[in-house]
Formats: sequence, C-alpha cells, structure tokens
Amino acid sequence: MAKIRIRLGTVFDDPEFFEVKMNCTKCGKCCLNTQMELLPEDIERITKLGYRLTDFAVFDGEMWRLRNVDGHCVFLNPQTMQCTIYENRPIGCRLYPLVYDDVEGPYIDKECPAWNTVGRNEINRLGKYLPLFIGRARQTNQWVRLRYGVRT
Ligand code: SF4
Repeated sequence: MAKIRIRLGTVFDDPEFFEVKMNCTKCGKCCLNTQMELLPEDIERITKLGYRLTDFAVFDGEMWRLRNVDGHCVFLNPQTMQCTIYENRPIGCRLYPLVYDDVEGPYIDKECPAWNTVGRNEINRLGKYLPLFIGRARQTNQWVRLRYGVRT
C-alpha cells in the first residue's frame, strides 16, 4: 500500500517522526477495543485511501476515535492480526505504547507486552509532543465540521 502524504501545515504532517522505536511483536493487543484518538491529519490521510469518515471513525462527544467492529479496530484483520492500513495508520498508533494522561503526563502503557523495549531516549524524544497531540485531537471535531460539514 502506498504511503499517503498530506500537508495541513502542522508537525503531524510527518507521521514517521512519531513512530516509537521499540521491539513491537505485532501481537495486535493494542488494536482490541481501541479508543485511539484521531487527528485531522489522520482523517485526511485515511479518507484519501477511499474510506468515508464514518467507515472508520466515531465521535464520542469530545474526540474522534477509531471505530471498533467485533471488539477490534475496524482496520485490524482478525485472522492475521495485521493492520490493513499499516503504512498509513494514525499517529496515535505510531506513538503507542507511549500515551498521555492530563495529570501524569506522558507514560508507557504496560498493557503492551513489549513496553519495556521502549528506551528512555524515545520517551524523552516524543513525550514532549504528547500534550500537543492531545491538543490537536481536541481540535479534530471542529476541523471535521468545517471539512466535511458533519454536525456533531
Ligand atoms: S500491544 Fe505492543 S507489542 Fe502488541 S502490537 Fe501493540 S505495540 Fe506492538
């Protein structure tokens, strides 16, 4: 699958930068019952693949998030446990298991079996972008309303 390039003029135009260096086993656990936030950049990239917004995204009253089907992300192939849009997956999926809590700040989610392969240097490199990521995710609904005329 070709990598889609989009330009909205933010740091999130460069998804590869946000990829945590780790020894991911591709177990797919993080794709089960996903609550992954979507940025405008993610929605723009994924819709360019031909998906409609509501095919893959749901609005929970605050954030747009990846849609689940049968208890897993709509993009997970449950037979192979592979992401079907891996090269174009959302930035939050690239950041995982680095996650953010408004009180704790950035931290590593120990639900990921490979959490201990994320080095301190990666936490330092990317942790400072997490507040920006959450701030951008909170802008997504306004962006969707303008871009798609979707009323939420
Ligand atoms: S849970 Fe961790 S090891 Fe498993 S696919 Fe997700 S990031 Fe990789």
